[in-house]
Amino acid sequence: MRRAAACLAVLLAAGTAVAADYSGPLFDAHLHYNDEACTHDSPVPGCPHPMADVLERMQRNGVRAIVANSRPNDGTRALASAREQTQAAGVAVVPFVRLYRNRADYSNWFRDQSIVDMVNAELARGTPAGPYRGLGEFHLYDSANADGPVAKQLMALADQKDLAVLAHVDDVAVDKLMAHTPSKGQTMRLIWAHTGIGGTPVARVDALMARFPRLMGELSYRPGLTCGDGQLCPEWRALLLKYPDRFLIGSDTWVNQRWLYYGELMKGYRAWLGTLPTAVAKQIAWDNGATLFGISEPAPR
Ligand SMILES: [Zn+2]
Repeated sequence: MRRAAACLAVLLAAGTAVAADYSGPLFDAHLHYNDEACTHDSPVPGCPHPMADVLERMQRNGVRAIVANSRPNDGTRALASAREQTQAAGVAVVPFVRLYRNRADYSNWFRDQSIVDMVNAELARGTPAGPYRGLGEFHLYDSANADGPVAKQLMALADQKDLAVLAHVDDVAVDKLMAHTPSKGQTMRLIWAHTGIGGTPVARVDALMARFPRLMGELSYRPGLTCGDGQLCPEWRALLLKYPDRFLIGSDTWVNQRWLYYGELMKGYRAWLGTLPTAVAKQIAWDNGATLFGISEPAPR
């Protein structure tokens, strides 16, 4: 106790402000509820993360809205159908159509016409939580595949129907995908999963943000975002302050391990969000996602 008091005295003497973690609502803009999580309504043996478990993790961590997508789309439908449970947990569900029925689709969707049929069927069907609001997450491991026939078709469809897309791609593919839209990327709502996971330079991210007014950057797994102590690196801090209405946070629960660490992931976000001006922290944590999908401010719980 005496030692803690001494430490505090030293910090105060040095003029160091210790920022409190961001404590407001979170919008998880990159969430998967895949089949291996086991998307049952009630616990069954061998089912690691049934509905009650994932909703409890969201609720405990102040996550009040999610972009839900899954491989196959059953997990998304389960979340979108569990109206009573999600409302009780205070979580708004924003459903996206994923382009994957199975793992083989990851590396073939951009040229497989049956994916377009599947997407159209899902869009026509809708969900109990309302119409689908976006497509993805999809991956392009080679940016040349952004020119695949199905990639072109789906980008045009998304732009026309004002659907967002959640794209795990490199910066070259962002340019290419935007070029395939009727608006040439000027109205396209592309959420850039990980905002350049391969290490796209900050200056290049800045240039793309300037060029495409509705490009959004989702920040999970982004190398170089935080430095050493989990705080924002200076150049990323400057970028977030330059475009405070363009960034989102996400869990990317692509494997079950990410569910196990869901709380730590959200605590990590809250720590660096707390070092930003209060209004900017709220924008990145909640407002940007809420505005994108018209989700109203949640009542405090
Ligand atoms: Zn993902």
